Amino acid sequence: MSDFPEVVVKEEYEEIRRWAKDFGQREIAPIAEKLDRTDEYPLGLARKMGEYGLLGLSIPEEYGGLGLGAVGAIIVAEEIAKVSLSAGLIIGVQNGLVGNAIAKFGSTKQKEKYLPRLVKGEIICSFGLTEAGAGSDAAGISTKAERAGEWYKISGSKLWISQGMVADLILLFARTGSQEDRAAGITSLIVEKGSDGFTVGSKLEVMGLRGTGTAELVFKDCRVPASSVLGTEGDGFLIAMAVLDEARIGAAAAAVGIAEAALDASMAYAKKRVLFRKTLSKFESIQFLIADIATKISAARLLTYRAAYLLETGKPFQREAAMAKVFSSETAVWACERAIQIHGGYGVSKLLPLERFLRDAKTLDIVEGASEVQRWILARDLLGL
Ligand SMILES: Cc1cc2nc3c(=O)[nH]c(=O)nc-3n(C[C@H](O)[C@H](O)[C@H](O)COP(=O)(O)OP(=O)(O)OC[C@H]3O[C@@H](n4cnc5c(N)ncnc54)[C@H](O)[C@@H]3O)c2cc1C
Repeated sequence: MSDFPEVVVKEEYEEIRRWAKDFGQREIAPIAEKLDRTDEYPLGLARKMGEYGLLGLSIPEEYGGLGLGAVGAIIVAEEIAKVSLSAGLIIGVQNGLVGNAIAKFGSTKQKEKYLPRLVKGEIICSFGLTEAGAGSDAAGISTKAERAGEWYKISGSKLWISQGMVADLILLFARTGSQEDRAAGITSLIVEKGSDGFTVGSKLEVMGLRGTGTAELVFKDCRVPASSVLGTEGDGFLIAMAVLDEARIGAAAAAVGIAEAALDASMAYAKKRVLFRKTLSKFESIQFLIADIATKISAARLLTYRAAYLLETGKPFQREAAMAKVFSSETAVWACERAIQIHGGYGVSKLLPLERFLRDAKTLDIVEGASEVQRWILARDLLGL
């Protein structure tokens, strides 16, 4: 950790921040409220994000990505989430989950076929792990993939799948072993839209991360070629956990971004709102609250950047990623709730984005490993259980 502060001040990171912020202000801010209100997937925005380079942040340059390290990528996650967490999720799924999995575990053929189009936003991807009966307990999934000659026959369904409504490609996790095999019996397969037996089930309405096409995906004797396996049969759980461990740092960064947006709004409001003949900022209880929010955000950011730095420098980062995810997402929920309090009636109104920030922050507390799961990971690691 001795050279960690270097990471925070590097000039190239400030350039990345400006680059992401510019896109956020220009292309996302004008539609962020509508995206949340209509809950319609922004296909046009996804394509623009692809053209700008946002969907291939950490994908190798040879496949059209930017090849950024983990720190650069989380700076982008932070800046985009300040404007819209839903837009940030498009990057998280395309680049962080599916792109990263294909780049790390795919065959050359799979990388060449999918990555350049994924990076450009020409194909929209989903990460299909969660089921009605298995979320945190991902090793308990029951969707089956049975080998039949040169094909796999898939049966089952997936729930809460982001971008599922519009997905052209699903990185699916299915059971090729027995239920008792738990994690060892899971395989990841690439399922393309149009595969026989694959349908999108119902659209699922959620309080946060709206407009991200959350859906149920249904597989009824769905046939995919044996060459669809990503990595090796039986390695699916390891692949899922490898990319989720990394994606957790992006989720933490997004939480930092939301919390900071809530803080910025609160400080601006406190300076201009006059009551009892003085501005809100002159009340000590408000000053202390602002100080506490800023302090917690700094702590969350440092935890997050530390985890990203460890990942980027090839060191173990899982413990730090779990700490960053749980602390940052809970900080975001708390900061948004306090920011609403500072804003009074405006805070709970739809005139300001604060109530959206709170709904999004709460959703972050659940996705990509809920807070209890992060604590469980940490406790097992710390206590050597
Ligand atoms: C908007 C949204 C988008 C999503 N996108 C995707 C996606 O793209 N792909 C995908 O595969 N999934 C996705 N998910 C699913 C998400 O990852 C799961 O909802 C999450 O992992 C929690 O699983 P669960 O809902 O089954 O809750 P459960 O696992 O049933 O958990 C219920 C409660 O028990 C707690 N709990 C779990 N384990 C423990 C433990 N060991 N000790 C104590 N408490 C525990 C949990 O923290 C939670 O509070 C999405 C969900 C949402 C809401």
